Amino acid sequence: MNFFEVRDGELWCEGVPLSRIAHEVGTPVYVYSTATLERHYTVFQDAFAPRKVLVAYAVKANSNVSVLKTLARLGAGADTVSEGEIRRALAAGVPPSRIVFSGVGKTRRELAFAVELGVAEINVESEPEIDLLSEVAALLDARPKITIRVNPDVSAGGHAKIATGKSENKFGVSFSEAERLYAKASADPNLDPIGVACHIGSQITDLAPMAEAFAKMRGLVERLRGQGLTVERLDLGGGLGAPYFDSPAPPEPAQFARMVETVLEGLDIDLVFEPGRVIAANAGVLLSRVIHVHERPEGRRFLVVDGAMNDLVRPAMYDAFHDIRPVKTPRTGANLSAFDVVGPVCETGDTFCRDRELPPLEAGDLVAFMTAGAYGAAMSSEYNTRPLAPEVLVKGNQYAVVRPRPTYEEMLAREPLAPWL
Ligand SMILES: *Cc1c(COP(=O)(O)O)cnc(C)c1O
Repeated sequence: MNFFEVRDGELWCEGVPLSRIAHEVGTPVYVYSTATLERHYTVFQDAFAPRKVLVAYAVKANSNVSVLKTLARLGAGADTVSEGEIRRALAAGVPPSRIVFSGVGKTRRELAFAVELGVAEINVESEPEIDLLSEVAALLDARPKITIRVNPDVSAGGHAKIATGKSENKFGVSFSEAERLYAKASADPNLDPIGVACHIGSQITDLAPMAEAFAKMRGLVERLRGQGLTVERLDLGGGLGAPYFDSPAPPEPAQFARMVETVLEGLDIDLVFEPGRVIAANAGVLLSRVIHVHERPEGRRFLVVDGAMNDLVRPAMYDAFHDIRPVKTPRTGANLSAFDVVGPVCETGDTFCRDRELPPLEAGDLVAFMTAGAYGAAMSSEYNTRPLAPEVLVKGNQYAVVRPRPTYEEMLAREPLAPWL
């Protein structure tokens, strides 16, 4: 469910026509819907009611400070993977008591920053990291709360580049390692192990592998408790898929919550989740304008748009699918025909899709890449010296530019010349 709907023959975001934003802010531009963000967060949180869970939104999915603040005001926590993301969460008003610090390679400096802040939990992913954290904590005379991230060794489907829960992936430790490290951390006066964590992948559309992983996590909690160790918290990560296609639809948060409650039945423990994509993905679109239609004599037709792989890299990087909708509703009975939709970047990889059936489109028309609110702007770059696409947040019938497009002067000013040049 989202708040991008057709009204008066064109696509709107809540109470604002997308054509107005394109006209006033320019294209390409990301447009986010406040009502959709709020709804997704609330649906996820409410799925577990009456149980109180910490929903730590995964900042990396969409890290715009206004997006974070929209969620923080509803009580969301933040799952972060760098000092920069922790700083963003703080800037958005997320209290340290709701900040989770995850990541495979946290530096000494980043760990010290999180320890001094007193974040809710540091998810430790390896033995060298435990040792480093213990050293940092001793120096700061602190005792950080940690969870051990376990790699449950399950295949959760999804694209290979976003699968994280197999033992061949770089994330987390095995169950036997987790038991040993939990005992080690419990005996360390500088560390306060409070629980265990896992995150098995992203864009997961099947609950079975998650249920399998969570059942294994439950087993781990019970074994640790059996050894007399205290385990108060179970962080089950993120990963629930978003609806990029109409079908098959990924499971609803309510179904996900029922699965969790079934797997954990009778286990008394605090739960943390780290959803990113399912909150942000279909709360955003990338709005782009057609530059021209280029027909090759061999018959391929290229729809060249002003958005490119530097703005939205998912198709190039993960072969991801984005629905592409013309902003102006095509006249009834308009024939569909096949286009390759491409951006202007000098790489063949700058192809959003091939042979996509679309209504007639011509230079100047607007198209919306749907479900682009997660891993869109957050992964964008200035490759080909294309200015970062601006971000716009809509709320009802108002909108605000929450990250402006940089000017070329600003872009060039970031690069001082070497003094000998
Ligand atoms: C990326 C990530 C998430 C969020 O994943 P989604 O698929 O966006 O829900 C959560 N936790 C960790 C540790 C991550 O790396």
